[in-house]
Amino acid sequence: MNIILFGPPGAGKGTQAVLIQKHFDLPHLSTGEMFRTAIRNKTSLGLEVKSIMDSGELVPDEKVVALVDEELKKEKYADGAIFDGFPRTVAQAVSFDTLLSEKGTSVYSVIALQVPEEELIRRILSRGEGRSDDTEEAIRNRLGVYHRETAPVLAHYQQKQLVHQVDGTGSVETIFERIREQLEDN
Ligand code: AMP
Repeated sequence: MNIILFGPPGAGKGTQAVLIQKHFDLPHLSTGEMFRTAIRNKTSLGLEVKSIMDSGELVPDEKVVALVDEELKKEKYADGAIFDGFPRTVAQAVSFDTLLSEKGTSVYSVIALQVPEEELIRRILSRGEGRSDDTEEAIRNRLGVYHRETAPVLAHYQQKQLVHQVDGTGSVETIFERIREQLEDN
């Protein structure tokens, strides 16, 4: 089961991915986390993407898709995964669909978390994870990039009738219940 957790920065994708992972026993694949690990480990990929991430821009599609392609070869993803922060452009979504179909699988559901913009900024500024891209300037840029480049991904999956809008406000548990119902009803 391949689930895409979709939404703007601060929508709670990472938090919900952990709960979905536990409940549905699926591995969590976060491209942002993979890049942060690469930066921490000072790999060549990490050095290449550090300044892009700090500014809130997107890492080029080819690099992201190559990273996901490589990662998905691991046995733990044999039954699918929860994709958090990927795909983030229509080009990534198209490549992703091809990549999955070559493996004889496809996207099962896109859970799109809905959170008002003021709430997003408040959440990011208060989450205090110490991320170097959690400055007010980078956050505004990330939201702009989201509207410009990532939001169109939703239309791509809407055409395939895979999108389920979920209210992303309220407690972490309440939001998870909404997602669980959506996935179990599907
Ligand atoms: P995230 O942890 O998902 O908020 O991602 C943090 C940052 O990593 C983003 O602002 C981008 O710079 C980069 N990144 C993560 N996933 C992607 C992706 N699918 N495409 C391009 N850049 C990404």
